[in-house]
Amino acid sequence: MPTATAGPPGRSVPSLADAIRTGGRSFSFEFFPPRTEAGERTLWRTIRRVEALAPTFVSVTYGAGGASRDRTLAVTERILAETTLRPVAHLTAVGHSTAELRRIIGTYAAAGVRDILALRGDPPGDPQGPWHPHPHGPRYAAELVALVKASGSFSVGVAAFPERHPRSADWDSDIRHFVAKCRAGADYAITQMFFDPEDYLRLRDRVAAAGCDTPIIPEIMPATSFDQIRRFAELSNASFPAALARRLEAARGLPEAGHRIGVEHATAMCERLLAEGAPGLHYITLNNSTAALEIHRGLGAMPHRAPQLAAA
Ligand code: FAD
Repeated sequence: MPTATAGPPGRSVPSLADAIRTGGRSFSFEFFPPRTEAGERTLWRTIRRVEALAPTFVSVTYGAGGASRDRTLAVTERILAETTLRPVAHLTAVGHSTAELRRIIGTYAAAGVRDILALRGDPPGDPQGPWHPHPHGPRYAAELVALVKASGSFSVGVAAFPERHPRSADWDSDIRHFVAKCRAGADYAITQMFFDPEDYLRLRDRVAAAGCDTPIIPEIMPATSFDQIRRFAELSNASFPAALARRLEAARGLPEAGHRIGVEHATAMCERLLAEGAPGLHYITLNNSTAALEIHRGLGAMPHRAPQLAAA
């Protein structure tokens, strides 16, 4: 039975959990909270372009600390108040006690935000460095999922790793801990970026074999520049396929050629993922939608059906 959750005044919407499970394929876009006024203007231009497509949701990342975290809240609230979009707020456990997290979750609830992507987060400064939880905070994302779920009627997403989490010793423990997050109440998952669809398909099969049917939405990063993707791939531990790296390297200094290669590669990857039954696509935009929108338009023939948000 689909459940309705309250959004901002006047908007009654199906929960994202229901929308993803029953509304046909989801498609969504990821933004980060900008630091400057110019960045803010770029973000809002992009948000308006994306809004015209009526995506299933958009998400806003959560920074390592301080002002950037307040900006996540501000951007999320503004999206909810001024657009027809459904914002999903990323939230991490980094540096937070459980009491602080409760307060943040309460602030989202009071603003009408009903969707949270619950993440453990990485150590600030050096993402590969040792992870120390707050002495009175969650140690793993599963505990944050349970906390959000216990705090109100939220749909909760979690992270999934097509090439397994870099800190996981092996696939068995990685899948076991992923399934534990789902059993703690996660309604869906979004993957880390990856560049080979086989990685996603293998992860999905492993999760299914462990008896878990939580929808896993692949995250799509348009690889339009060699240097940028090499940096992101290093940070996220995603492999950068040699053939794609060679093509992008040959296009160094030729931004249009790089753009075309990235869009072509991502479009082919998305076609394969959708043909294999992926429940949706989550596009990284870096606050600039050009490549993501081109990829999405290139998939025009695919049977996307954005769930109706404005059911009021
Ligand atoms: P967890 O699920 O807690 O897993 C972390 C590691 O601990 C894994 O190796 C897991 O197998 C292991 N583990 C889990 N439970 C146990 C247990 N009980 N015992 C032993 N080991 C265990 N970071 C940000 O800072 N801000 C963002 O906005 C952000 N957005 C993201 C969005 C997406 C879609 C993705 C994929 C990642 C995002 N990240 C973000 C990065 C993310 O925070 C890191 O990748 C982090 O290292 C993993 O978080 P997690 O939620 O998967 O952690």
